[in-house]
Amino acid sequence: MTQPFDATAASAAYRNALEVIGAVEPTIAGAIRAELDDQRSSLKLIASENYASPATLLTMGNWLSDKYAEGTVGHRFYAGCQNVDTVEQAAADHAKALFDAPHAYVQPHSGIDANLVAFWAILANRIESPALAQASAKHVNDLSDEDWTTLRKALGDQKMLGMSLDAGGHLTHGFRPNISGKMFHQSSYGTDPETGLLDYDKVAATAREFKPLILIAGYSAYPRKIDFAKMREIADEVGATLMVDMAHFAGLVAGKVFTGDFDPVPHAHVTTTTTHKSLRGPRGGMVLCQPEYADAVDRGCPMVLGGPLSQVMAAKAVALAEARRPEFQTYAQAVADNAVALAEGLMKRGVKLVTDGTENHLVLLDVSSYGITGRQAESALLDAGIVTNRNAVPRDPNGAWYTSGVRIGTPALTTRGFGVDEFDRVAELMVDVLSSVTPTTTSAGAASKAKYVLADGVADKTRAASAELLDKHPLYPGLDLN
Ligand SMILES: *Cc1c(COP(=O)(O)O)cnc(C)c1O
Repeated sequence: MTQPFDATAASAAYRNALEVIGAVEPTIAGAIRAELDDQRSSLKLIASENYASPATLLTMGNWLSDKYAEGTVGHRFYAGCQNVDTVEQAAADHAKALFDAPHAYVQPHSGIDANLVAFWAILANRIESPALAQASAKHVNDLSDEDWTTLRKALGDQKMLGMSLDAGGHLTHGFRPNISGKMFHQSSYGTDPETGLLDYDKVAATAREFKPLILIAGYSAYPRKIDFAKMREIADEVGATLMVDMAHFAGLVAGKVFTGDFDPVPHAHVTTTTTHKSLRGPRGGMVLCQPEYADAVDRGCPMVLGGPLSQVMAAKAVALAEARRPEFQTYAQAVADNAVALAEGLMKRGVKLVTDGTENHLVLLDVSSYGITGRQAESALLDAGIVTNRNAVPRDPNGAWYTSGVRIGTPALTTRGFGVDEFDRVAELMVDVLSSVTPTTTSAGAASKAKYVLADGVADKTRAASAELLDKHPLYPGLDLN
């Protein structure tokens, strides 16, 4: 499932690059080599990670990095941007074609940055205020203190409605640790306590009462599809802008697993994403939007972003070109099929899953029936060479730090070529580990939330079994640094 590549050419490219790097700073050449070994030898189940192609990765190491290119294609604040224009145009064109989007802005450096661009664009587009229009038309360096005061007042007390954190929402959707929690009043919608599923009637009721400017849909830990046509109806009814953050599942949209009502792009006014998760591109972000938001979105740099990373925009173009090939649809379907196999493999061995299954690339385990916290599960799995991350489950009694859940996903191992049988085996290995963990008892006699003992031999046995799976599906087959 890896994007096919010429292993001889890629090996030579990396060997030579590491020789040049190592001559200046051997520590870094060593860390780059070691990272490949680590990635190759661990069972990576982190739902937000993947393995980009050698072509995508190689595109990031060159002199495009040396160019300043503030502004947009054909309209730069620096001279000599013709090649960056080619790069940015290509990336935007691929994004528009892949997602059938009227407009694409490919400069955001990450998903969080893409959301900030979107928030600002929605505010600028929706708030009718001559003072605001005047101020936001200026270059950010030209805004006086007075302009800023006017801006803040003109924005007023704007409201954002998003999915609650413990239901799987993201902290950029109006929560405290992110500036969105300071820019907006926030209210959130959760999931049904019985089924764990989104209840659209409840979302609608909350929206009617709260009257948000922005209704956000999207998640990083909800294992189900979202009906974006329904979300748009709710947004329209209350006069909100529908913003969808598809950071996690963009690969399933690109690969046509999520279509019709489940494809956010035609329904949302503004769609944001990362490019490095299921989409399998370079670390970065992107904003897609309807034409009426395009001008405001294009002001992202310098409004809230630093100068564009031209080398990363170039890598986005390469990865998006890959995602437009039919093989990527096969990959995306395999990601979803593998997630079902993983979920079923866990459930038939007695593991409780949030929503009792999955419809996307991720699975959320509730490990409380093992008498352990998410933190203990995460650490014990890591001892056995299985890389996951702990994650709160809805109404989690252990809070966001220790948690009762573990989040896993299939994009990375599917890139290595794992299929449904291998994912069933992964489920078996995970269950072996989870059922061999005992919390350490504290001096007060209570079970610790962090310390644990993993039964003798389980870590070694699991590592050996994963090594077998990993050897069968090598990462970057044929790539040899020696
Ligand atoms: C991962 C994620 C982000 C943040 O992406 P970064 O590239 O880490 O800034 C934003 N929103 C959602 C829903 C995510 O899952």
